Amino acid sequence: MKYLREIFRYTFKYKALAMLTIGCNLFFVIFNLLSLVLFIPFLQLIFKSNSLEKGIQKPVFSGDFVDLINHIKDSYNYNMQKMVQENPLDALFFVCVSVFAAFFLKNLFRYGAVWFQSELRMRVVRDIRNTLFKKAINLPLSFHTQEKKGDLMARMNSDVGEIENAVISMMELVFREPISIIIHVSTLLYLSPSLSVASFFLLPISALIISRIGKSLKRTAKKGQHQMGLLYSAMEEGLGGIRIIKAFHAQEFINKSFEEINLRYQKLITRAFRKRDLSPLLNETIGAGVMISLVWLGGSMILNQSENHLTGELFITFIIVFSQLLRPIQGISNSMANLNKSKASQDRINEILKTDLKITNPKKPIKLTEFKDKIEYKNVGFYYKKDPVLKNINLSIKKGESIALVGESGSGKSTIADLLPRFYDTIDGEVTFDGVNIKNVAISQLRKKIGIVSQESILFNTTVAENISFGDSNPSIERIIEAAKTANAHGFISELENGYETTIGERGNMLSGGQKQRLCIARAIYKNPEIMILDEATSALDTQSEKQVQQALDNLMKNRTSIIIAHRLSTIKNANEIIVLDKGGILERGNHKSLLKSKGAYFKLCQLQGINE
Ligand code: ADP
Ligand code: MG
Repeated sequence: MKYLREIFRYTFKYKALAMLTIGCNLFFVIFNLLSLVLFIPFLQLIFKSNSLEKGIQKPVFSGDFVDLINHIKDSYNYNMQKMVQENPLDALFFVCVSVFAAFFLKNLFRYGAVWFQSELRMRVVRDIRNTLFKKAINLPLSFHTQEKKGDLMARMNSDVGEIENAVISMMELVFREPISIIIHVSTLLYLSPSLSVASFFLLPISALIISRIGKSLKRTAKKGQHQMGLLYSAMEEGLGGIRIIKAFHAQEFINKSFEEINLRYQKLITRAFRKRDLSPLLNETIGAGVMISLVWLGGSMILNQSENHLTGELFITFIIVFSQLLRPIQGISNSMANLNKSKASQDRINEILKTDLKITNPKKPIKLTEFKDKIEYKNVGFYYKKDPVLKNINLSIKKGESIALVGESGSGKSTIADLLPRFYDTIDGEVTFDGVNIKNVAISQLRKKIGIVSQESILFNTTVAENISFGDSNPSIERIIEAAKTANAHGFISELENGYETTIGERGNMLSGGQKQRLCIARAIYKNPEIMILDEATSALDTQSEKQVQQALDNLMKNRTSIIIAHRLSTIKNANEIIVLDKGGILERGNHKSLLKSKGAYFKLCQLQGINE
């Protein structure tokens, strides 16, 4: 129920569209019924029913609105009868035209309903995707691990698609089918109350049997899918491991197990096919059984004259209207099944929407002014899962100075850097910016001050210019070119086909590694942050492009406060302080000269890289 309400809320955000859909469906049901009922006079005409021959007085409208339907019917019958007596062919023509008109209008409204509904469902889907994407972008980095990406994509694609189906099912379940059932049932009651009562006993029985068949069919289909999965993996394993299979002379063995799986699949699918082919036949047989029971009941009523107003034409109409009842009943059961199916998807979507943002803005943020003094890490401790990644880190970076972090891979260098823009929050201790705890300032303000160049050059599939001015809604081309020049990138950009307007392909795959990295540096220069973080910015490059990139980096760091993480120690010799990390703790610290002199871990690292002074 709660779930249904949620779908309801999504849908009725677009009240007008929803109402239009419902309205069209209402008219569709009415004209559908009319298209059948309007046949009555035609049948009367053909059978020359005595009700026509008796002669009816011209009806007078009593003024009572309850009687309106009766009045309309009587007037229609009266006029029909007159026409039949005067010119039967005209009457026939009239009936045909009105039946056609009813059919036409019925389908017109059906199309109308589909028309509005398709807009409605796509808007709902668009909304959910927008919200999901926005949420995903805002979720902390800790949420976005590699395996999460595929999962998130699945949620944004197929799960949202399920919601699309749920919207339609909900509209049908709550509005179309009940309207349809009410209108049909009232018509039946109007045509013959006693026959209606009898038929309502038959309906639930047949509906139950039909839904049972449907369910059993679904179960078999599911098993079939599972078996198909096994078959696929057997194929993949067999073909993928062909070298080993041959080497171990295991063809016989593999063949046998494949044949077994294939046999099981064949048997299961045969069973599914048989069931599937059986179900419409069973449906029809059951339907026919119900109909025949009705024919027997109604027929005997007419023959016994026990219900004197039930004429042959009314009876046939009754049967036709009754046959229309099965569809909405089946529709309800289908819609319920669909809604049930999409519930899991809705849960998966809500899981994302309800994930805690964790890294949030303070209620009353302290305004940051221009960076004046220093950044400090005070007794910082951190862990991702359980194992401590950083322990008791104390650092201080003065304005205009640079510190370098070195150490083995996994020693916690990137983690230290990630704490500054609050990609993660410290667990122990604090990071301060001119003495203000960074948890107390607005995240956007803090991040505006920080530029990052990391090992992977992350670029977007737009133009060079847009990549450099990334995030700026009002870019200046002069500044873009200037940034590119400082980043040593202007040369190669000018040689591109369309210069700064060249689209660089997905993740910039049209460019070389060094070029990509220089674009990233240009982007950082364009942003003009007060603080720079370089996380192994040159590690992925060959020596030739490293030189060009290093030059660009030197330009970038001029007059800037920076944290540099580097494998190649030659690039950090000039840092004001070098910090050697080991397993999340600080092993040594000092400048290049003093560290070399003390002949500790840094000295050994330098020796390994052939640096002697
Ligand atoms: P470095 O940059 O020095 O190579 P990191 O700071 O990236 O080291 O990683 C420090 C430790 O934290 C490593 O043991 C790494 O496995 C772990 N780690 C890094 N990122 C995550 C993460 N998102 N989730 C869990 N553990 C992580
Ligand atoms: Mg790292």
